[in-house]
Amino acid sequence: MDFELSDEQRLLRDTIRAFVNAEIRPVAREFEASGQYPEQIVAVMAKMGLFGLLVPEEYGGMAADMVSLAVVFEEISRGWMGVAGIIGSHSLSCWMIARFGTHEQKRAHLPALASGERRTGIALTEPGAGSDLQGIATTARKDGDRYLVNGAKTWITNARHANPLPVLVKTDPSASPPHKGMSVLLVDPATPGFEVVRDLPKLGYRGPETCEITLDDVAVPAGNLLGGTQGRGLQQVLAALEKGRVNIAARAVGVAQEAYDQALRYSGQREAFGRKISDFQAVQLKLADMAMKLQAARLLTYWAASRADAGRRADLESGLAKVYASEVAQECAFTAMQVHGGYGYSREFTVERLYRDAPLMVIGEGTNDILRTVIAESLIDGRGMIG
Ligand SMILES: Cc1cc2nc3c(=O)[nH]c(=O)nc-3n(C[C@H](O)[C@H](O)[C@H](O)COP(=O)(O)OP(=O)(O)OC[C@H]3O[C@@H](n4cnc5c(N)ncnc54)[C@H](O)[C@@H]3O)c2cc1C
Repeated sequence: MDFELSDEQRLLRDTIRAFVNAEIRPVAREFEASGQYPEQIVAVMAKMGLFGLLVPEEYGGMAADMVSLAVVFEEISRGWMGVAGIIGSHSLSCWMIARFGTHEQKRAHLPALASGERRTGIALTEPGAGSDLQGIATTARKDGDRYLVNGAKTWITNARHANPLPVLVKTDPSASPPHKGMSVLLVDPATPGFEVVRDLPKLGYRGPETCEITLDDVAVPAGNLLGGTQGRGLQQVLAALEKGRVNIAARAVGVAQEAYDQALRYSGQREAFGRKISDFQAVQLKLADMAMKLQAARLLTYWAASRADAGRRADLESGLAKVYASEVAQECAFTAMQVHGGYGYSREFTVERLYRDAPLMVIGEGTNDILRTVIAESLIDGRGMIG
């Protein structure tokens, strides 16, 4: 058993940490407050090859292992979790296209997505269906050598920058069970009828845009059906979400680490009753709890990632990591705010942003309650084994 990162992973971590300290930390507060899209940070990330994290080398990507992916998302989220969102659903969809796409689809999209010249996201959620993806209402009707897509999607991150945007649709709305009639279409946003209607106002996770989309008779060539076979969409998306959960867990670890760092630093500076507040046992207990849970969340996340790297099924593991790490992030953000007293409630201190960013990890990529039921099902039917 080896709990150390490899030399390559350590080098990657140090490189990303230096990038975050130089390019993200100095501007995070100002950009976040103004809602400005961080173009300059995105340009550096493209140069560093971060848009190609999960793209195979033959298409110009980095083909990173999942532990490396976790390290990248953790480090970026220590600086500003919003920036991690820009490569989050992008990486998930790149992996999905590389894993399930036809040769033509991979050649057409992966090189440009790896370089960051083009970017992507994923459109699953609808106004009437989020957790219940088999309940989506967006349809794609075959019309000769194309599909006509009609419906609406909501909460779609990176929607204004995605080309193509993978959209989950029903190619056979009467199929039973419904997933047998579900497919993913790679939609070109320039197609008439495709409209990004508005940006949703959010508590946190500012930086990447999160939008509503309508699709009104959008004509999508049949060649854009991911993998070329109808009825595989839900399966493709669920496989990609397993990678996505490692990314969300890692973001949560990054937020928790930053909350802990901020609390430790502040408690060593702030004085009350003639002493540093870190001298008070009540504050010490908070720091100890944060450190303990943070490290447990990190180990769970790296463990899930390394199981996936070993080629093993890791849906249970990535679910455990996502649920636990996201709740630790939320707890650490609140505890760090308490350690800061009134200043923790101020927009001028980082912990206020951490407190607003943390809940997304509880909701995104499957709510924690849904994941708990999935975890329990796999424990009960014996697929997942703990101990
Ligand atoms: C900032 C942000 C960015 C996002 N980005 C994207 C994106 O890029 N692409 C995308 O497709 N989606 C995205 N989402 C959507 C996100 O994935 C969904 O919000 C999430 O899956 C939950 O779906 P819902 O909002 O429809 O909630 P619902 O499914 O309506 O759930 C509401 C509540 O009911 C509970 N619940 C529902 N069903 C059950 C059940 N069977 N058992 C127990 N509890 C249940 C849930 O846990 C939750 O607490 C984003 C969301 C946010 C907030």
